[in-house]
Amino acid sequence: MSLEISAHESIREMYKKLKEDGMTNLWDRWAAQEQIRCKSFCAKGLSCQFCSNGPCRIIPGKLERGTCGMDGDGMAIRYMLLRNAMGLSTYTYHAREVAKTLIATGEGKTPFKISDTVKLRDFAAKLGLNPNSPVDHLAVDLGRYILSAINSDSNASLKTVEVFATPGRIAVWKRLGILPGGPANEQIDAISHCLTNVDGDYVSLAKTAMRLALSCIYGSLIPLEYGQDILFGTPKPHRMNFDFGILDPSYVNIVVNGHEPFVGIAS
Ligand code: SF4
Repeated sequence: MSLEISAHESIREMYKKLKEDGMTNLWDRWAAQEQIRCKSFCAKGLSCQFCSNGPCRIIPGKLERGTCGMDGDGMAIRYMLLRNAMGLSTYTYHAREVAKTLIATGEGKTPFKISDTVKLRDFAAKLGLNPNSPVDHLAVDLGRYILSAINSDSNASLKTVEVFATPGRIAVWKRLGILPGGPANEQIDAISHCLTNVDGDYVSLAKTAMRLALSCIYGSLIPLEYGQDILFGTPKPHRMNFDFGILDPSYVNIVVNGHEPFVGIAS
């Protein structure tokens, strides 16, 4: 194949080993797909299979709308919005696990203990909880707060936006109508926009995608990062050996590691 696997020797070595072992891999799969990829429609977002009146394709200048009336701009951003929705779901799933783990830990039902009590009290105070409660009670209160914020109405803006966003950004988001509520309800609203004939306007769909992104960050990502630091300790620089094939000894390399550590830390 002509595809350059990687500039990094360890990645090339891994690819060679995969080939020797007869294993399928992403480089070969990508190259094979590239041969047959639909460049006129699919790669440009100018096709749609969302309902039984399709599939539809857009040919600029000739066939400007799908059966339902959706144009190419609308089709492309609607796919983008649904990709955002998948991202929001996975972050919110993660945030929900953190919230439930905080509650279970405060109730003494996990092998964990609250590691960063300073961060717990600081975050709780920012959210209007009583920071002077006993640590275990406060962990339960915080977990419940995160769960209720995830499920809060999309008409009421999130407290975490007020706490963490700058006034200038909040004013812009208000003006655009994208100040978000809880991720679970924003998700319901956003996916409803994607149903055939509900929203055919690419600007409206793009604003919905931005609103979803803000809800994801402020309703799920920030609470889950705080929650994990509170549970397992705020990360500090430390030495370790690994090779992702992305480090260069002549630069300062910063690698952020995280995601869902529950099982790893418990075992
Ligand atoms: S939603 Fe509209 S563009 Fe998509 S398949 Fe149905 S009719 Fe065609």
